[in-house]
Amino acid sequence: AVAFDVERLRADFPILQRTVYDGTPLVYLDNAATTQKPRAVLDRLAAYYANENANVHRGVHFLSAEGTENYETARRSVQRFLGAAHAHEVVFTRGTTEAINLVAHGFASRLREGDEVVVSALEHHANIVPWQMACERSGATLRVIPALDSGDLDLHRLGDVISTRTRLVAVTHTSNALGTVNDLRPIVEAARAVDAAVLIDGAQAAPHAPVDVQALGADFFVFSGHKTFGPTGIGALWGREAWLEALPPYQGGGDMIDRVTFERTTYAGLPAKFEAGTPHVAGGIGLGTALDYLMEIGMDAVAAYEDGLIAYAEERLAEVDGLRFIGTPQRRAGAISFLLDGIHPYDAGTVLDRLGIAVRTGQHCAQPVMDRFGIDGTIRASFAFYNTRADVDALVDGLAKVQALFG
Ligand code: PMP
Repeated sequence: AVAFDVERLRADFPILQRTVYDGTPLVYLDNAATTQKPRAVLDRLAAYYANENANVHRGVHFLSAEGTENYETARRSVQRFLGAAHAHEVVFTRGTTEAINLVAHGFASRLREGDEVVVSALEHHANIVPWQMACERSGATLRVIPALDSGDLDLHRLGDVISTRTRLVAVTHTSNALGTVNDLRPIVEAARAVDAAVLIDGAQAAPHAPVDVQALGADFFVFSGHKTFGPTGIGALWGREAWLEALPPYQGGGDMIDRVTFERTTYAGLPAKFEAGTPHVAGGIGLGTALDYLMEIGMDAVAAYEDGLIAYAEERLAEVDGLRFIGTPQRRAGAISFLLDGIHPYDAGTVLDRLGIAVRTGQHCAQPVMDRFGIDGTIRASFAFYNTRADVDALVDGLAKVQALFG
């Protein structure tokens, strides 16, 4: 890893140099929605389409073989980024949402009436709805680990929620709505004690700190490329070999088969079994490039820098009169949610936008989190390693302007 130099790293991201409206510099604080792409990724995508485009896994010709090799090399980048034991435990998906649907679809055929699936009160809709659908199909019941006012999960209640009826626990590592970094160890241990499988939604964790799926002790870990400085339309599912072998295919089609007759089809081995059809080759290669870029910086260095930045942002925002944090979790990564007294989040977001400051307002695809706090939405500032204290200062100055207009 090289020394962490935020200005040098910012120069890798063309979009961070642009202005919005009439020449207003962009302050991008919507990284939980999607992250920007470094030139390495942009160049890689252009090079792929300009010089390398071919279908993979099927051609006898040079380009197809080269493309297959590059696509499979990208899979090994994902493997290294996650600390996975095997490259064939990495399945490329469209993103976090598809990865969770893939696992939930597989579980739907295994669940029985009386079985339970456990999620937490802090989940994104993507880690709620697929499980509701699986429960509906199977007659299983959805249970919820509750959250405290701090925005931390109430781990004292684990024993009430996780039982011998639990088949799977699906929980987010980091909340996109509040920024809470969940303490996963007791959750994984409680699940292990009753032989339940564990899926970790890593969409908001992977961009901010090192991931080691083996140390986490989970069975599935999912994340999105576009939130990890890679292309949209690509993400990954890591699953333990034994679990991926046990689950049925998600979609049928080319590439995922071994032998097809009209009477019977046998399926390909891992990971092809879960990758029906022509894959997002460019996306996979672009994601591999993004993760190589991150590993070159070093995720430890990213985490250390962001911890300092988040602490500074919490400190500066706490000085704003009439600002109420929604969630004051013990550990935070990426996002800070708050409200301004008497001002609708949308109004605040609109004024900030005119100042070139991109934040997100609303429910953040986490309506149950909003319900838990009895609010309609929040203002969310979310950070990446290329953000600076100057970005935080711009936000705080912008909030003063919001209050001057609406206060
Ligand atoms: N889970 C979490 C925690 C997220 O933040 C998101 C994206 N906002 C998702 C799941 C869904 O990811 P995607 O839309 O990339 O599939």
